[in-house]
Amino acid sequence: MDAHFTCTACKKEYDLSSPRWRCDCGGLLDLFFQPKIDPREVSARRPGLWRYREAIPLAPGAEIISFDEGFTPLLQVNFGGFPVWVKQDQLFPTGSYKDRGASVLISQAKALGVAAVVEDSSGNAGCAVAAYCARAGIACDIYVPADTAAGKLAQIALYGANLIRVPGSREDTAAAVMAAGLHPLLQAAFHFDDAGTNLITLATRVYLLTLAGYVMQETLARAFYARQEPMLPLYSVLVRLAIYLSVGVAGVTIFRSIGVPVIAAGEMAVLVEAILMLTWLNRRISPPIQVLTAAGKGLIAAAVSGLAAYALALYLPGSGVMTALIGMAAGTILALFIVRSEIRLLFRLGA
Ligand SMILES: [Zn+2]
Repeated sequence: MDAHFTCTACKKEYDLSSPRWRCDCGGLLDLFFQPKIDPREVSARRPGLWRYREAIPLAPGAEIISFDEGFTPLLQVNFGGFPVWVKQDQLFPTGSYKDRGASVLISQAKALGVAAVVEDSSGNAGCAVAAYCARAGIACDIYVPADTAAGKLAQIALYGANLIRVPGSREDTAAAVMAAGLHPLLQAAFHFDDAGTNLITLATRVYLLTLAGYVMQETLARAFYARQEPMLPLYSVLVRLAIYLSVGVAGVTIFRSIGVPVIAAGEMAVLVEAILMLTWLNRRISPPIQVLTAAGKGLIAAAVSGLAAYALALYLPGSGVMTALIGMAAGTILALFIVRSEIRLLFRLGA
């Protein structure tokens, strides 16, 4: 059987023997396959989808998962004075034409040795895949929008599939199933897909930027407590709360699509609070505290180490995980070198 997938974006070719559903570049795959059918042979077979076996690129000898679907009857009706032939696809085993695709799909999954299938559906496809998976003895998770018709949900569940109801739109359901099937590692760690992983990375970076604020805020609040002045830290907390709430509300309304990093950026409120407290404290003590040099060096260390890690991960040959780890290690060493005098100071503090 001469058949392969071709990426519609980068033209890379893949054979059909791996459980692949899209190109490494993310492009969609086109099937290249030239069926050779003998009409005499086909017409001698029993009616059904699989009489066209040679037109379906399933490996020769593979087990066919079928409920004898296809060949639904044509019914003649009168439509505006014209005779129209209506195909009765509601007579398919699970009630929709999706059984055609499901029969081919699950046969191929079975041939590839797939042990479990995840699928997102607004109803009919979920029913079809659940039924054919049951026939094939393949475990099956069907993700559906939470507002899917109760009858469809019952049908999917009766076929023995694991039903996962996803709150939100059809697209949210597709995103949830991508997270389940695409990146098992990231899914296990974060429950996010590609876009979600990018978002969580960005949110983490933004959050890390705010950590200096936390350290300053903790130290300064204690400085005020030591001076028995509890009201100023209280006012500063109110300022932080106001900033945090307004950024948070903006994150779930105006900037909804990038809400996670926006909410993480709300943690900058702690830095604002710390600067406010530092200003108040500096009015009370002499000489005032100088933090700009240390903070500036911290920022430079973060930028340099981040760039070094990024560049190494980008240009070093090897697997993504390895180059990322090497980049992070090199970036950390660079950052530690830049702030080495501050680190030495830290160790001397306890002595
Ligand atoms: Zn491609």
